[in-house]
Amino acid sequence: MTAKIISGKEIAAAILEELKAEVSVLKLKHNVEPGLVTILVGDDPASVSYVTAKQRTARDLGFHSVQDIRPADTSEETLLKTIGDYNSDPAIHGILVQLPLPKHINENRVLYAVNPDKDVDGFHPVNVGRLMIGDARFYPCTPYGIREMLVRTGVPIEGAEVVVVGRSNLVGKPIAMMLVQKQKAANATVTICHTRTKNLKEHTLRADILIVAAGTRNAVTADMVREGAVVIDVGVNRIGTTPEGKAILRGDVDFDAVKEKASAITPVPGGVGPMTITMLMMNTVRAAKFAAGIALE
Ligand code: NAP
Repeated sequence: MTAKIISGKEIAAAILEELKAEVSVLKLKHNVEPGLVTILVGDDPASVSYVTAKQRTARDLGFHSVQDIRPADTSEETLLKTIGDYNSDPAIHGILVQLPLPKHINENRVLYAVNPDKDVDGFHPVNVGRLMIGDARFYPCTPYGIREMLVRTGVPIEGAEVVVVGRSNLVGKPIAMMLVQKQKAANATVTICHTRTKNLKEHTLRADILIVAAGTRNAVTADMVREGAVVIDVGVNRIGTTPEGKAILRGDVDFDAVKEKASAITPVPGGVGPMTITMLMMNTVRAAKFAAGIALE
């Protein structure tokens, strides 16, 4: 069997088109312009490129977009005050603090200062708790993107055996929690694996849907995948650079071998990655609708 390649790039482009149309309606019919601020402290090149991409996408969609860049020596107090200002700014519906923050700033203290109604990253404990009890307003962007890819590819989730490799707060735990809910696009039987899991392969071989978010190159090889499984590769590993100086990226899954066994697989790059920014935009539109009292589906 040769797997269908699930193109996150194509799915993301389709969602962005839908969002663009929704933003036009929000502006025309409701006089609501979704507002997103990205706050970056310092000038780490990877972080600069992430926030630039987020702002470019926000502008393309017709958002009110603010890029707030602060020097690396910004104090925690100043950053907290900045977040407080955006919390009470009615033109801003989504606040994204680009991580990592410089070492002298307590990351949790900063993330917890964001108004949960504007927490479009879904990292605030209120939103983590709401996700846990099946009443989520915002899903963290990467897990949200994974679920959306499964749904839009027509992968049955209900009743499926889902195995997640990785238990981070960013990816592993939230995607497991989303897919186990007694809700549509969920109702799966979920197993979470990590570095202390005994005999990882015994678990991964059971998976109808295998989600790998380990950050370890070739954490999953073909002998660990059941014939016909759907494989979602979240990992991003830099394996070198092109002569032009561009990073060469690969996932956590041995793609070439696993694609001969899986029924569908996401590539790296071009799989989960493009979905993450897209779902940030989706969350910002949700936040704007919520603030305007427009029903969320
Ligand atoms: P993380 O915080 O480092 O967590 C990795 C998890 O995987 C940990 O729970 C770890 O177990 C587990 N793990 C690592 N190697 C393993 C192995 N060989 N077998 C079993 N479990 C293993 O990473 P993360 O933030 O979740 O990110 C995971 C990967 O996804 C990274 O490559 C990251 O760059 C990528 N990522 C991509 C996107 C995107 O938009 N494309 C977004 C987020 C993350 P322990 O808990 O026991 O240490």
